[in-house]
Amino acid sequence: MTSSASVSFLNEARRVAIFGGTHGNEMSGITLVNMWIKNGDEIQRNGVETKPFITNPRAVEKCTRYVDTDLNRAFTTENLSAPSKEDLPYEVKRAQQINLLFGPKGSPNAYDVIFDLHNTTSNMGCTLILESSSDHFNLQMMHYIKEAIAPDCCRVLLTEHPLLKYSTSRSVAKHPIGLEVGPQPHGVLRSNIFEAMRLVVKHALDFIELFNQGLEFRPCTLDVFRVSEKMDYPRDTNGNIIAMVHPHLQDCDWEPLNPGEPIFQMFDGTSICYEGVGTVYPTFINEAAYYEKQQAFVTTRRETLAARAIKKAHD
Ligand SMILES: [Zn+2]
Repeated sequence: MTSSASVSFLNEARRVAIFGGTHGNEMSGITLVNMWIKNGDEIQRNGVETKPFITNPRAVEKCTRYVDTDLNRAFTTENLSAPSKEDLPYEVKRAQQINLLFGPKGSPNAYDVIFDLHNTTSNMGCTLILESSSDHFNLQMMHYIKEAIAPDCCRVLLTEHPLLKYSTSRSVAKHPIGLEVGPQPHGVLRSNIFEAMRLVVKHALDFIELFNQGLEFRPCTLDVFRVSEKMDYPRDTNGNIIAMVHPHLQDCDWEPLNPGEPIFQMFDGTSICYEGVGTVYPTFINEAAYYEKQQAFVTTRRETLAARAIKKAHD
């Protein structure tokens, strides 16, 4: 039995947003959000106001990741507080508008939950992105989603890292949640990826409805993959890529990689092996959008987080 002393009482999650088009060529989220803007019946829940929203309409129109700069890196304190000027990059202006509509970031007026829908070209399946290991509302929600979609798999990527964490669109909310589903090429809509994303959003909204109704969620554990290290492609002195992701690593997101195992293949067939310490779990392997970010994949390490019992606080 859970004693009431160990339960965290949290405010209800009344205002929820679902973002699509933070990257304008990731078609599942864009298509779902546009569908829900036309008819939002399937995302309505008792006691929850759910707002579907296209975050980067100009990039969506051009079917490109962004117009001037990556919107999903633009929500820094510096950008959000920059004086509005005509010559600011489009995505910085857009970040300021989104912060006014759904934030301000870090304030009591901010939206309770933002789901940000993304697609990846990597073979990652369904991945929930968790920004903080101490956000017990999100830990419980992710646990609920994992149980609900079992035996299908939904992994949790924890991006809490002093250098590798970045300022996402969803970070405006009190409880930010990224959903990354792949593999799906940019500009392409695949029915299996679309339906997988739709199902995760359904379970997430069900969780919020149950929480707002006053259900207590018991303590539980959540297996996560914590971002560890960013790995770039091997390059020559001019910065040109001189090797490809090794065939033994390609499409093996979330599978164990041990020191001495191959990660890159040179054009003459020579292998380059992993030289880190201990077993890691690579992900975002060969993601198309990350060539510009000098990233071939990230390594993660497995961890189990303990989620406290949570219940809605009395009004
Ligand atoms: Zn994206």
